[in-house]
Amino acid sequence: MRSVTIFGATGSIGVNTVDLISRDLDSYNVVALTGGRNVALLAEQAVAVKADLAVTAFDDCFDALKEALAGTGVEVAAGSQAIKEAAHRPADWTMSAIVGAAGLVPGMEALKQGKTLALANKESLVTAGPLLLSEAEKHGATILPVDSEHSAIFQALVGEDINAVERIIVTASGGALRDWPVDALHKATLKDACTHPNWDMGQRITIDSATLFNKAMELIETREFFGVRPDQIEAVVHPESLIHALVGFTDGALMAHLGAPDMRHAIGYALHWPERGHVPVARLDLAKVAQLNFRAADPERFPALRLAYEVMEARGLAGATFNAAKEIALDKFIAGEIGFMQMAELVEATLSTLSGEIVTSGPLTLDGVLAADHLARKTAATLNVAR
Ligand code: NDP
Repeated sequence: MRSVTIFGATGSIGVNTVDLISRDLDSYNVVALTGGRNVALLAEQAVAVKADLAVTAFDDCFDALKEALAGTGVEVAAGSQAIKEAAHRPADWTMSAIVGAAGLVPGMEALKQGKTLALANKESLVTAGPLLLSEAEKHGATILPVDSEHSAIFQALVGEDINAVERIIVTASGGALRDWPVDALHKATLKDACTHPNWDMGQRITIDSATLFNKAMELIETREFFGVRPDQIEAVVHPESLIHALVGFTDGALMAHLGAPDMRHAIGYALHWPERGHVPVARLDLAKVAQLNFRAADPERFPALRLAYEVMEARGLAGATFNAAKEIALDKFIAGEIGFMQMAELVEATLSTLSGEIVTSGPLTLDGVLAADHLARKTAATLNVAR
């Protein structure tokens, strides 16, 4: 019986994780589930998987959660401190699937147990990659990537020597606007950016796919997690989203990972690792797929990619600054305050305004990352980019 905790259980990744665990409840003891405002779903999940503890991140949701779980025997808590404490409850396997910078601290705390952290939260590696990896090493913990691209790279590297890796190719669907010319991108609306061709995801990540900010985050994650140089990492547009990533070796071989676009692939791999379990995802029928297409990713139409390379070169607090500015840019786009192309302009302007603050002389600290996040949000909120 394995003990598991899921941070962000009510989100898209969390729901898929609960789905896999619910199919085999005899094998898992669910220590804690955490959520945010979707209290009804959190309560339903906690009862379904017989969780010991359910935590909402927000104090004002406590009463509703308590009421929803009254008489069930599930312990209830609320607030960011309670989330942090949930990370200290012994669990063999923890899923980090809170969205945004709020996911960093619970993941860092869970690593202190020296067990396994399945990492979906992109922001953790982008903002604090070296910190996270050194914390894992210090406590003998294992981090397993859950982003489909990084899970694919991880799988292609099993049994391989990282020194024999020449390049890593991360595929991008290209998002909702992949074929739009740059003039049209300037006029793209929220509705245009919110329709993803292949994956069914939340609004924010779908817009991040359309700008390729999502891909930019993944390039930075690749650099941090696998320790390769920026010039070894490439993004290529692959509209079918069936190859999730490829690893090229010194002998010219390319190892590709294919699978249906279903996050339960990567979640299931991390859940069963180091073994392979049964994962109920659609199997690819290659004759039906018939062809796979690729084209170069265009940094002129998608400047987020160019910015990713700047962040990978700068490191230090550049990742935290990039991520926070991107969040503010996204808020502004959703609110109709800036246009589609201005999101990258705002992130670039924030990086350049804070270029002196980004450089760190010593090792990254959690306080430094959180301060950079705060400063970048404040800066991006006040900077003007022309519409
Ligand atoms: P969702 O927005 O669907 O879910 C986020 C989860 O975090 C929910 O449980 C939400 O609670 C909770 N939450 C929101 N705000 C806070 C907060 N301040 N403190 C604590 N918990 C909070 O996100 P996804 O599941 O799509 O993504 C989660 C992470 O995984 C992200 O970092 C994303 O980039 C990454 N990822 C997602 C993929 C996907 O396919 N969706 C693919 C690869 C990576 P509630 O909903 O109850 O308010």
